[in-house]
Amino acid sequence: MALIVQKFGGTSVADPEKIKAVARRVIECGKQDNQMVVVLSAMSGETNRFVDLAHQMQAIPDPREMDVLLSSGEQVTIALFAMAAKEAGYDCVSLLGDQVKIQTDTMHTKARIKSINAELITGHLNSGKIVVVAGFQGVTEKGDITTLGRGGSDTTAVALAAALKADQCEIFTDVDGVYTTDPNICTSARKIDRITYDEMLELASLGAKVLDIRSVGLAKRYKVPLHVRSTFTDTEGTWVVEEDKIMESMLVSGVTYNKNEARITFSKIPDTPGIASKIFIPISDAGIIVDMIIQNTRAGEMTDMTFTVPRTDYEMAMKIVEKTAKEVGAESFSGDPHIAKVSVVGVGMRNHSGIATTMFHILSRENINIMMISTSEIKISCVIEEKYTELAVRALHDAFELAKENLPIGE
Ligand code: ADP
Ligand code: ASP
Ligand code: MG
Repeated sequence: MALIVQKFGGTSVADPEKIKAVARRVIECGKQDNQMVVVLSAMSGETNRFVDLAHQMQAIPDPREMDVLLSSGEQVTIALFAMAAKEAGYDCVSLLGDQVKIQTDTMHTKARIKSINAELITGHLNSGKIVVVAGFQGVTEKGDITTLGRGGSDTTAVALAAALKADQCEIFTDVDGVYTTDPNICTSARKIDRITYDEMLELASLGAKVLDIRSVGLAKRYKVPLHVRSTFTDTEGTWVVEEDKIMESMLVSGVTYNKNEARITFSKIPDTPGIASKIFIPISDAGIIVDMIIQNTRAGEMTDMTFTVPRTDYEMAMKIVEKTAKEVGAESFSGDPHIAKVSVVGVGMRNHSGIATTMFHILSRENINIMMISTSEIKISCVIEEKYTELAVRALHDAFELAKENLPIGE
């Protein structure tokens, strides 16, 4: 008998009929001598609706209360799923994050899982029940509800698979696997059959939201093979696995975009030791993760500093920056939440030159201005105006010929 964890995302449980269909699918899998643990997201659109509601109450919603609100969407879907399974004649129990003791730190709205007590689930499984767990939520040591950050149900699923030593972890979604770029904005995107944890980590960190980055990190650490596949078809999806010899290293494996970023710039700050720490310590103390940082070299004693933060933290970051700007004697500061980061990713870039120049050439050919650039050995990212995101993604996907079947690196 195998133990299988299956996670279904928001579009898969978007309405009562879809929830019934998911229950049928899980039951079918259970009938093949499998123990089933199911993780569900909220119905699609619900979490966004909660975020909007919260902003109607408070400009910067209280993080603890925000989590009480955000976690409610998953409570609805797991209860409905359990009812659907029971109606079909199968025993099923729904469990919330605190019942499963998904213990997290106290960083509300982006909490990290510290431990899971799998005993309760194992007990239910052994008595023949399907166990359905609310994704995206946990509980602090003191008993406060937390959420794991947007897209966090993937992380719940992988964490449970690791804690239960599951034989398989399947992530069901509205596309049938991981593609060379978002198939919803680029029709020539190609499905990748197998991808390494490391490449998937890069794609996810740069915006490929098909898998939440933390779920990929956990899967890598605990060696949980992931199968990303469609809820609506039976086709084989994408396997996220450890690197093996058969895998071909691609020069460029994908193009990603991230619209969840905002830019902040300090203009004319003193170019003296300690300024960067004065700027970034209060931001990091607020739990805000800074992504790209650029400091200009200027003639004279002044410099500029530009960086990006998640758009969801933009208002909070600007409040902090307003204070810091006075403290460090900045001439001015500004922010822009309407930016996007477009990236080209591939482990094969390590040994190849010319990828960056091709990227810059393509963006300039499309008349897209590059505001910031950052590179690592396996990726190049450019910050551009948000409205050009789709255009940039399609042009880069074409330029790197990603629609073609595997293009291994030639010498
Ligand atoms: P779920 O609600 O099931 O968790 P998400 O919306 O979080 O689904 O993730 C699936 C979406 O990820 C797809 O609909 C697609 O638009 C987007 N996506 C972005 N990049 C990629 C990619 N490289 N491959 C597949 N899907 C991608
Ligand atoms: N419902 C949450 C969200 O929309 C978590 C998830 O779907 O993974 O972000
Ligand atoms: Mg998701």
